[in-house]
Amino acid sequence: MTAELIRGPVVEKAIKDEIIKEVHKIREQTGKRPGLSIILVGDNPVSRASALDKEKMAEELGFFSVVKSFPATINQEELIAVIHRFNSNNNIHAIRVQLPLPDYLDEHRVIEAVQPHKEVDGLHPANMGNLILGEEETHIPIAPLACLKMLTSINYDLKGKHAVVVGRSNIMGKPMSAILLQQDATVTTCHSRTANLPEVCYMADVLVVAIGRPQLVKKEWVKPGAVVIDVGINRVGDRVLGDVDFLKVSQVAGFITPPGEVGAMTDTMFMLNTLQSFKSIHHATFVQ
Ligand code: NAP
Repeated sequence: MTAELIRGPVVEKAIKDEIIKEVHKIREQTGKRPGLSIILVGDNPVSRASALDKEKMAEELGFFSVVKSFPATINQEELIAVIHRFNSNNNIHAIRVQLPLPDYLDEHRVIEAVQPHKEVDGLHPANMGNLILGEEETHIPIAPLACLKMLTSINYDLKGKHAVVVGRSNIMGKPMSAILLQQDATVTTCHSRTANLPEVCYMADVLVVAIGRPQLVKKEWVKPGAVVIDVGINRVGDRVLGDVDFLKVSQVAGFITPPGEVGAMTDTMFMLNTLQSFKSIHHATFVQ
């Protein structure tokens, strides 16, 4: 068997086209547009590059964006006051505080200061809680949302399927397991202490891997015909490797995502959640 590829750029383009169309309609009908703010503290070059990428994508999609930079001398209360100002700004629908923050700041307190419906990364305890409760009023964290979009793109029906998630981080593995459960899959969550990991993976109809270990998942771990979603991004020399041995696993899987392509979709998922926030803030239904 040779797996069919689920291509991130194709899925991403379809989502971006939909966002552009919808934002265009919204602007025509209301004169408003989704707005996002990105808060940078200190001079982490990766954070800065990520903020600039989002600024560029926001423009491409017709959103308004503002990036606010602060030196690593801003104190916690000052930073929270900035967040409160964005919370009460009606033109801002999403607030991203770029992580990691310098050590002297308490990331949890800072994230919790963002109003849950404007915290579109889905990390706020209220959003995580609503996800577990199956409430619609939440933002699904962006990396698991990218995985879900990959599965939706092949019309995969998760009902009654066995989904195995390898990785239990708060940002990826745990919310992924909750989403799959919500979709009526039977879910097993694995981590670094899981016994017999290859055998557990082999039980999967859908295998989602997010561990940060280059090519750990081997061909022998994958049931023929399984759907394999590889979230891992591992830079090895000048190559990006996934957590799955892509070439070999492709020989047995039914569907597979190429290395790096799920991770590359997260900015688009951020924008999708920003649009959702706009719509819930303005309680709007727009003509599609
Ligand atoms: P993380 O916070 O480091 O979590 C890694 C998880 O993998 C942990 O739960 C860990 O188990 C588990 N793990 C590590 N080694 C393992 C092993 N040998 N066997 C089984 N489980 C193992 O990483 P993350 O943020 O979830 O990201 C995972 C991968 O996805 C990385 O390559 C990352 O670059 C990529 N990615 C992440 C995001 C994101 O938004 N986080 C987005 C795109 C791509 P323990 O809990 O027991 O330690």
